[in-house]
Amino acid sequence: MDNKNLNVSCDSDFFTRFQCPYCNSEFKIENSFFINEEVVYNICCPYCGITNKIEEFMTEENLKEFQSELENMAIEVIEELFEKTLNNAFKGSKFITFEKKKNTFKKKKVDKAVTPDDMHEINIKCCDINIKIDSYRKEAFCIKCGESNE
Ligand SMILES: [Zn+2]
Ligand SMILES: [Zn+2]
Repeated sequence: MDNKNLNVSCDSDFFTRFQCPYCNSEFKIENSFFINEEVVYNICCPYCGITNKIEEFMTEENLKEFQSELENMAIEVIEELFEKTLNNAFKGSKFITFEKKKNTFKKKKVDKAVTPDDMHEINIKCCDINIKIDSYRKEAFCIKCGESNE
């Protein structure tokens, strides 16, 4: 899965929220990081410094949203197939015409995760990445290389 296509919500500064599976703390990563890196497999928790697959760091809201988007994508594929089948079935018939109806299948409304503009922004110097962490924390591990930054 290409993370650039991962259409998850971000806050007004284009930071996406993640949650560490180990310490349950939340942090945000600037979206440009994912664009610059192209493919991100692993990230490191800025609080406890443990590295894991990026999916493990996705918040429940982000996962839910991602899932509904996937379901909608699947519906589109089914709809297209259904339409093709019907068109072929009625091809050449003078008496029956198949009228194309939009949205034959109900699409789920995608619940966009609400990402409030909280936490404070810091720059991780070693890899030049901007992240947001809880305001009372001053040092953080680099989400890319795991080095401790202050
Ligand atoms: Zn952690
Ligand atoms: Zn680094």
